[in-house]
Order: sequence, then C-alpha cells, then structure tokens
Amino acid sequence: MMVNKKILIVGGGIAGPALAIYCHRLGAEVTLLESRNESELDEGLFLGISPNGLCVLSDLIDLSKLYREYSPGAINFFNAKGKKIAELDTDHQVEKYGWQSIQVKRSSISRLLHNEMRKLDITVLYDTSIVNLKETDDQVLPITSNGNLEPVDLVFGADGIHSECRRIIFPFAHKPKYTHQLSTGSILSIPGWCFEAKPVSMTFGTRAFFGYTTSSNHQVWWFNNYYRKAEPTREEIKTTLQKEIKNNLIKLHEKDHPPIKELIRQSTDIFAYPIYDMPELEMWYTSNVCLVGDAAHATSPHIGQGASLALEDVAILYRCLKTEKSPQAAFARFQDHRKPRVKKIIQQARKVGNSKSKPNPVAVFFRDLFLRHFIKFEKKKMDWVYAYDALQVRIC
Ligand SMILES: Cc1cc2nc3c(=O)[nH]c(=O)nc-3n(C[C@H](O)[C@H](O)[C@H](O)COP(=O)(O)OP(=O)(O)OC[C@H]3O[C@@H](n4cnc5c(N)ncnc54)[C@H](O)[C@@H]3O)c2cc1C
Repeated sequence: MMVNKKILIVGGGIAGPALAIYCHRLGAEVTLLESRNESELDEGLFLGISPNGLCVLSDLIDLSKLYREYSPGAINFFNAKGKKIAELDTDHQVEKYGWQSIQVKRSSISRLLHNEMRKLDITVLYDTSIVNLKETDDQVLPITSNGNLEPVDLVFGADGIHSECRRIIFPFAHKPKYTHQLSTGSILSIPGWCFEAKPVSMTFGTRAFFGYTTSSNHQVWWFNNYYRKAEPTREEIKTTLQKEIKNNLIKLHEKDHPPIKELIRQSTDIFAYPIYDMPELEMWYTSNVCLVGDAAHATSPHIGQGASLALEDVAILYRCLKTEKSPQAAFARFQDHRKPRVKKIIQQARKVGNSKSKPNPVAVFFRDLFLRHFIKFEKKKMDWVYAYDALQVRIC
C-alpha cells in the first residue's frame, strides 16, 4: 500500500525521523521538513526514556551509540536536609521488560535518527516550516516558508506540541494551555565531580523539588519545575529568563542541603521549557493527513513519557500502514488503538504535576515515613506503561 507513495513528514524532533525511517522501510518516497536548522538540533536538555520507548528505538538505530552519553533512570529520594528517604531502582526492568529506563539528551536521540535518515538517503529540508496544506481528494499540496513543494500522497504532522499541521487541519481545536510551570535545568561540568554515572538524586526541598544526576561522561544534569504565573515570551526565554530563574531558584533552595545551591550557582546556561496541558483532540487525522507524537497528544514531562509515547505511536502507525488496505483505514486503526492508552498516561502525568505544590509539615512527616513503601507500589503502578511492546502488542 505504501510502495512508491510520496510522503511528507513535518517535524524532525523524535517522532518525525522515526516515522521517516519506518515509511522508507515500507517502500515510500519520503521527504522530511524541519523548521530549525541542523545546528539547532542540539537544543533541549535531557529526557527520560523507558523500556516501552527503548524497544522501538532499538528497532531503528544501534542503541549502543545512545549509551555513550546517558545517565541511569534509577532515583534516590532525599528530604530537604539531605537524608535519603527512599530509592526507586530500575535493575529489575531488564529482566522484566528487556530494557532499563535511562535519561538521555534529546539531541542524542534526534541526531542518531537523523544520521540513520542520512544513511537511507531520505531527503531532509532544514530551515523550512510548513505554512499550509491544501488537501484535494487524493493528494496534498504542501506550502512551506520556502515556497510550494510537489504534491504528495500523505502528510504526517510530527511537529510537536504547537503543531502547525494540527492548526491547519483542525483550526477550531483548543490550543495547549500554559500550566504556570517551566521545566528548567542545566548541564555542567564540574572539576573533581564524581566519575561514574549516578542515579537521579531527587530532593523534596522545603519549597520545591530538585533533581540531579551524573552522566556517563561525567557531567552533572539537573532539572526542576519552576512556577511562573505569566507565560514567558520567546524574547524573555532568550534574554532575561535565565537570570530570573537562577536568582529565584537559589532563594527557593536556600534552606535545602548544600549541593543544590552550588549546582544552581555554577550554572551558566539554564534551559527553560514552558509546560503546557494539551486538551484532548477528538480526531488525529483527515483523509490524507495524520498527526503523531506531541502534535496529536502532548503530555507534561512529569512522568517522563513524552518521547516514549511518540516512539510507541510511530511503531503502531507503521504496523497499521503495513497491514491495512488504505491509509485512511490505517489512520483510524492507529487512532483507535492509541487513544485510550495515551489518555491514561496523560492523566497520570497530570496527577503527578498537580502534586508538586509547596509541601506542608504534616504531609512532609508522613511522606518521609511512608515513601519507601509507596515506591514499591509505584513500581507496580508503572508496570502497564513499561511492559507495552509496540512492535508486538495486539492492535485491536
Ligand atoms: C527544541 C526542543 C527541545 C526540547 N527539549 C526537551 C527537554 O529538554 N526535555 C523534555 O522532556 N522534552 C523536551 N522537548 C519535547 C520532547 O522532545 C517531546 O515531548 C517528545 O520527544 C515528543 O517528540 P515529538 O517528535 O512528537 O515532538 P518534538 O520533539 O517537539 O519535535 C517537533 C519538531 O517539529 C519541528 N517543527 C515545529 N513546527 C514546525 C513547522 N511548522 N514546520 C516544520 N517543523 C516544525 C520542531 O522544530 C521540532 O523539531 C523538546 C522539544 C523541542 C522542540
């Protein structure tokens, strides 16, 4: 069904390149558009990728290359005084799911997928944004910031949470809502810092949480969520926001154990990524255009499932395109299968996000006392998320 079909994929983050490789496998003629230029592929910090995402990624690239720069997914929990109160290990995951959760730079995944596209001779147009899509009965005319492209048979919108493809095909869909939180963090090299990859140290500070980890190439990666009532403008993100965040974070963590303040002080480049809540989209596709990844259903980063969900999507869409008789039947089956799972994960992430408010002393006392037991329960609670194998699961 896909052999020699002309396909346009919009977005060169994670879902886009992964889908490009799969469509190439199906014999399609693929072009990918990315609005950033190639050097900007390094933007972003790191993200969690869990067994359900790694199993798909292993089908697309040589995963050993990903392990050149990573940090373990296990978490040690500390209270504000630096006392360890619980740990969430991931050792059991290899036996149970085949893979173990890790943290990797977003750019490492993206670059490896782009290298793979290059090997396969897939055309990538950087610095080119989609502006409009004109659908006729069986073709789509893509209009880009650099002019019109040749008509194509199908378009896949993998252009992230602020998807232009989504706006074009569903102009009345609700826009993502700013949650008053920014995901912030930094990557830094500190002379004399420990030399082995270390699990995440997650501190429940007096006024906010703070996480940091040591990567396999001896850098410190830290992250936290930062409350900001007003949504930052692009200009603020580029100019004043870094200083604002740094000063406020130092104050927020004033009473917490010392390494936290030190890490914030030493950070010269703080990345801030506003967190949005995306209202559920009723449909993910039209006759010839289908959305995938964040463009269809972005989730907040609170349980680290954004990249893994995008990869799951792509594998399921590939399998539907491979077996269904028409693209439209494949899109329908893809959407029907994916929606319930995605919805459940988004709800879980929302719950975690809402719980990240300022702690009260009674809650802190019970948290320190019971977290250890609660973690055991958490492990089981995530089983249905991690055990999902998009390459094998029955597509109902
Ligand atoms: C620059 C950037 C940095 C990020 N950093 C982090 C991070 O540090 N931690 C984290 O947890 N998540 C981060 N994310 C989000 C994370 O990558 C996604 O949630 C997840 O991986 C799902 O991937 P996706 O491919 O669906 O979307 P994305 O990874 O968002 O990819 C979408 C791609 O589409 C491109 N694009 C957008 N509009 C257009 C257009 N009109 N025409 C052509 N191309 C377009 C974007 O430049 C982007 O490369 C980041 C996203 C971006 C875009």
